[in-house]
Amino acid sequence: MREGNGLKSAVGTVERLHPPPPVLEIAHTLTSAGYESWCVGGAVRDALLGHTNLDWDLATSATPAQVQRLFRRTIPVGVEFGTVGVLDDAGTMHEVTTFRRDVQTDGRHAVVEFGASLEEDLARRDFTINSIAYSPGTRELRDPFDGRGDLARGIIRAVGDPQARLREDRLRALRAMRFAARFEFEIEPDSWRAIQDSAPHLGRLSMERVQQEIEKTMAQVERPGVAFRMWRESGALAVLAPALADISDLALATLDRLPRATRPENARRTTNRLTALLVDTPPAVARATLRELRFSNDRARWTGDMVERWREVGAAVRDALSRAEGPSDATVRRWVATIGRTRVDALLRVADARFGAERASGAGNVSEASMRSLYRRAIRISLRDPVDMGDLAVDGADLMKAGIPAGPRVGALLRALLDWVLDDPARNTHDRLLARTRELAGGPTNS
Ligand code: ATP
Ligand code: MG
Repeated sequence: MREGNGLKSAVGTVERLHPPPPVLEIAHTLTSAGYESWCVGGAVRDALLGHTNLDWDLATSATPAQVQRLFRRTIPVGVEFGTVGVLDDAGTMHEVTTFRRDVQTDGRHAVVEFGASLEEDLARRDFTINSIAYSPGTRELRDPFDGRGDLARGIIRAVGDPQARLREDRLRALRAMRFAARFEFEIEPDSWRAIQDSAPHLGRLSMERVQQEIEKTMAQVERPGVAFRMWRESGALAVLAPALADISDLALATLDRLPRATRPENARRTTNRLTALLVDTPPAVARATLRELRFSNDRARWTGDMVERWREVGAAVRDALSRAEGPSDATVRRWVATIGRTRVDALLRVADARFGAERASGAGNVSEASMRSLYRRAIRISLRDPVDMGDLAVDGADLMKAGIPAGPRVGALLRALLDWVLDDPARNTHDRLLARTRELAGGPTNS
């Protein structure tokens, strides 16, 4: 039973259902033409819970061709599966899907047939809370599987026989864990057993679908660690991302301390969560895991680099922040140089989450205040001080003009100069760097 949010008594009441005007209009057009039209799926569920969801999907008795004839602007989103996108006056698309029944399923794909009733359409949906229909015209609810009861009780339950339903489409196992974590619901025991029994078969899913599930979990769920703990307990992780099969509770708790991406502009947050997920795996394994899961090469590379930088500085940062005196400016500058200017913000956010998780587990003693102070100093340094070879007041050409022969020596000297400048940024002048070059090269080099 859900408690503490004051929603319980109101959960499931029709007063909560307010589809937006364009959806009402589309539904009205359909019913005026003699077809049934019902709001279904996630938006109905979320509205009954008191959450907003912008995707009000409609289910109808009209065939895709009939829907296409009824509306001026449509997009054939997935006509073979019954889905037509209807554009409203503002150009926003709303999905209208013909009632369907499954005629064949193989754990990955379904072959569907039209001419089904609303009841048949609801029966092929995955969980009771996703199988509630609402008619905006009559304000009637159809809820043949007591989805509202499960919403009020806080239960994820498969529609019908859990074993059979999860066998039809293995993705449902991942969806169940996402919904459970997102709404802080329990998974009903038979459904949970069916999820466990599905785990060995998850390798048959296309990795693109798995990747989408991970993205949605990261973006929708406040505490994705709860979802991935279920992935671990059910055996899903061992099959889909073997490197994470034994992911620690600490890593999962780290994930939960990083905010989710609520808008496209803060998509970087999802990447930070991915870093937290992989932070204890070797960088090459982290990159390979993400590539297996069909994340973009950019994403895999960036995350792998983040994991690698964490390996290089994480322990030193923890050590220094655990001591009373804290790190010197030169030390912070060296960390920033190792992490790289563009990664400092992200890496320190992940570090902050990790130290927070360690603190909460009683295992760490990096205080929030010391981490906040480090974050401020590191950002200031990254904006102000030379921390990269490109920031040096001399470049390779200058060194060659000063007599250093072209070759690997030039790069080695530039690295040595950066190292010298990291101790004291005031050294970063053309003249001082050339003088230092002569010293390092062993006397005057341009005689
Ligand atoms: P979200 O908020 O993540 O979009 P949702 O419930 O709307 O959640 P969708 O993937 O948009 O999920 O699917 C819409 C509806 O279609 C679901 O509510 C469910 O009724 C049905 N559905 C989606 N995927 C499946 C599936 N794999 N098996 C059965 N029914 C499904
Ligand atoms: Mg949806």
